Amino acid sequence: MKSIALIGSTGSIGTQTCSVVRRHPDKFRIAALVAGGGNAELFLKQAEEFRPEYAALADERAGEQIKNRMPAGIKFACGEKAAEEAVGFGDTALIAAGGFAGLKYSLAAIRAGRDVALANKETLVCGGELVMREVRGAGVRLLPVDSEHSAIWQALSFRPDTPFKRLIITASGGPFYAYTPDRLARVTPADALRHPTWKMGAKITIDSATLLNKGFEVIEAGWLYDAPLEKIHTIVQPESIIHSMVEFADGAVLAQMSFPSMELPIQLALTYPDRLDCGVKPLDFQALGTLHFLPLERRRFPCYDLALTAAEKGKNYPCALNGAGEVAVHAFLQGRIGFTAIAEIIADALAETEEMPADSYEALSETDARARQAAERHIARLSRSV
Ligand code: NDP
Repeated sequence: MKSIALIGSTGSIGTQTCSVVRRHPDKFRIAALVAGGGNAELFLKQAEEFRPEYAALADERAGEQIKNRMPAGIKFACGEKAAEEAVGFGDTALIAAGGFAGLKYSLAAIRAGRDVALANKETLVCGGELVMREVRGAGVRLLPVDSEHSAIWQALSFRPDTPFKRLIITASGGPFYAYTPDRLARVTPADALRHPTWKMGAKITIDSATLLNKGFEVIEAGWLYDAPLEKIHTIVQPESIIHSMVEFADGAVLAQMSFPSMELPIQLALTYPDRLDCGVKPLDFQALGTLHFLPLERRRFPCYDLALTAAEKGKNYPCALNGAGEVAVHAFLQGRIGFTAIAEIIADALAETEEMPADSYEALSETDARARQAAERHIARLSRSV
């Protein structure tokens, strides 16, 4: 029986993790539940269904509003610090909180000696150097949940240190792969929130549309598999059937395929090397007929290019990229800036970033805060100029 501290339980990954637990109640138990507070009613329902030992909402006000309705027998707390304590419950912490906030949960789980099933991309994008050092020091396992990194892990037979020639990360291309710059400038939040193959939270859906997400995945893969950037390639696979591939020294390429479903990599992070039914529709190759492959060119996708540039610069640049990106995407979703301005805001914030070490949470927090301030300034400037 695996016991899980589920961080970010009310989101897309969090609710799919709940489905995985529901499917195999003899294998999994939720020991702790944490969410932000934006969907307190769903959080209460989850607490009633799964009866964890501990439940916490990061937002104190939302927590105060529901504390009297928490089922008896569950220790409930609210606030950021109380939420972090949840990682000490259970043997594995599944980190599915969104954004930079996920980093502190990952670090807290590693420091508590827990295995980390990692969905939160920002943990490695922002804090790769620090997190990998702490993982090695604590002797815990970092288990990929992101479908591309899970696919690579599977192709490496669950041994991240298996030698390889190339990692080939696939991308759906997002909804606007073939759009001209003119058409892109007219994209609305509703258009960008309609992903062709995956149903995900709003931030990652927009990042998939700008291809910033693919840049994040390159950075993540570099840390997880100790791969220099020149060994990581990307290709568009519009049907999202191949979730990534590994090429070996002899030219053999192993791909992991399935219909798009996050429940597969979520469950595998919790059961590997065992594989259990996870409700994914079997692949019907004849019905599929053809799989397509298209190039993912840096010069066509400015957010992807900015992510690779930040990765090449290293240090605190990927953290600044993320901080500015979070603010820019939020502003786009609020209708304050246009779709193509997301890349402009990130580029301007990165240009102002001062190189700093990325080896402590405090240093990363400072970079994150500065990048957010820079992005807000550029958003205000853009708003004044229209
Ligand atoms: P969602 O926006 O759907 O969910 C985010 C979750 O985090 C919600 O439960 C939210 O709670 C919670 N949350 C927000 N702030 C805090 C906080 N300060 N402390 C604790 N919890 C908080 O995002 P997704 O599920 O789509 O993505 C989660 C992470 O997984 C992201 O980093 C994303 O990049 C990554 N990922 C997602 C994939 C997907 O298919 N969705 C695929 C691969 C990676 P509430 O809303 O109740 O406030």
